[in-house]
Amino acid sequence: MNPKKNISNRCKYIRLSYTLNSNSPLHPDLKEPRITPKNQILTGGNYNTSIITVENHSGTHVDAPAHFLKDGKIISDYSADELVFYNSIIWDCPKNRDELINKQDISHFLSKNKVLIKNIDCLLLRTGFGTYHDENAKIYSTQNPGISPGAVFYLRCQLPNLACLGIDTISMSRYGRMKESIEVHQNAFMNVASLGKPLVLVEDLDLRVVGEGTELIKVLVVPWQVDAIDSAPCTVLAQIN
Ligand SMILES: [Zn+2]
Repeated sequence: MNPKKNISNRCKYIRLSYTLNSNSPLHPDLKEPRITPKNQILTGGNYNTSIITVENHSGTHVDAPAHFLKDGKIISDYSADELVFYNSIIWDCPKNRDELINKQDISHFLSKNKVLIKNIDCLLLRTGFGTYHDENAKIYSTQNPGISPGAVFYLRCQLPNLACLGIDTISMSRYGRMKESIEVHQNAFMNVASLGKPLVLVEDLDLRVVGEGTELIKVLVVPWQVDAIDSAPCTVLAQIN
């Protein structure tokens, strides 16, 4: 037996994405997902199939720059390599309803983790708001904490290798604040010569499943491979120690 193969077989993976169903919490502007059985063995069919109707920002999903930029990359522009991250970290930054992760929070986090974050390519923000996902979908969808536009820009300035920013809330930006939301996303997506590459944003992540002290060895963001869309539902896997 190939010994290398044996080692890779022992890798442990966990899923950081929610299962999508017709009751999944959603941004209030979206249509609810529909999963409609079409052919059914139970009703005399030879096989099972279903029709799935889903807006592309439903459930755990990845936003590409085309979500807010006219000439931004779309989902199918990304190679597999660009969506696998080898220096990922979960940052615990507890926030309440409608609170912001601001520049001071980031600055404090960076100064405490200088060595750790040097090469970071994927930062997952754990606000703790994921507890509302199952408990109260309305609060989860309309009173979520978010990150400030200035904090996103500051992160890109401080972390030149950062390529992916994720969060355990329905959106990276707070609900009902369109100007703030545009700025948050544009600051993540815009091309700036002095900064690293534009970020992808992963929203509605399930970070409850990651135990304290768990090291993320690798994070894989796997969007639905659909052409000509700005963003897509995705499965997110983490290899852990
Ligand atoms: Zn989105």
